[in-house]
Amino acid sequence: MSILFQQARFLTSINHLSDLPSAPLPEVAFAGRSNAGKSSALNVLCRQKRLAFASKTPGRTQHINYFALGPLKAPSAHLVDLPGYGYANVPTRAKVHWTRLLGGYLQTRAQLRGLILLMDARRPCTILDCQMIKWFAPTGKPIHILLTKADKLTQQQRANTHHVMRKTLDESEAALMPDKLTVQLFSALTRAGVDAAEHLINGWLLCAQQ
Ligand code: GDP
Repeated sequence: MSILFQQARFLTSINHLSDLPSAPLPEVAFAGRSNAGKSSALNVLCRQKRLAFASKTPGRTQHINYFALGPLKAPSAHLVDLPGYGYANVPTRAKVHWTRLLGGYLQTRAQLRGLILLMDARRPCTILDCQMIKWFAPTGKPIHILLTKADKLTQQQRANTHHVMRKTLDESEAALMPDKLTVQLFSALTRAGVDAAEHLINGWLLCAQQ
């Protein structure tokens, strides 16, 4: 397990861009539809059973939740759990707030080194997933897609997934930079793809510190 992910702990919950931590620590954000498996992925990456469920406590589900990484007294990076999207029947006011918070965060956050976008491998690339890519692509920073719950796919489906993904993304309206967009299969249940994802995130965070 990487040293960075050791001692991951909940730091703060934010509902306004003006409240984002000012510390110049590199951060990696996790986004995805509600139920895509974001909390499970964060927990398995940090080897903690309930870490990301801090984001699911009442009052925090639509907030940006921060987790600190590294030594307790000298945190060296942040993991950022963005609010899940795609809930049915969300009032317009909440949607407007979500759009400003998420869009503003993705487009302007200087500390952000890259975006981990989680999609259920059986239903990837929904309209809102493409919206996230559209918001983030102009920053020129990398996006890494985790196709979650890969254990639910047959071997044949797993083999076809990259092809199907690329085709869907190419046909979407999202402005994509192929070299900045990578994809992998992931399963919190079997831990397939966990080491690869951890390696990639470490690379983003450590590279930023040099
Ligand atoms: P979130 O809303 O995106 O944070 O999603 P959760 O992490 O809470 O997961 C939603 C549901 O999917 C839960 O019932 C999880 O147990 C299940 N789930 C998450 N990851 C996996 C996985 O890798 N494999 C399987 N089979 N189920 C998963």
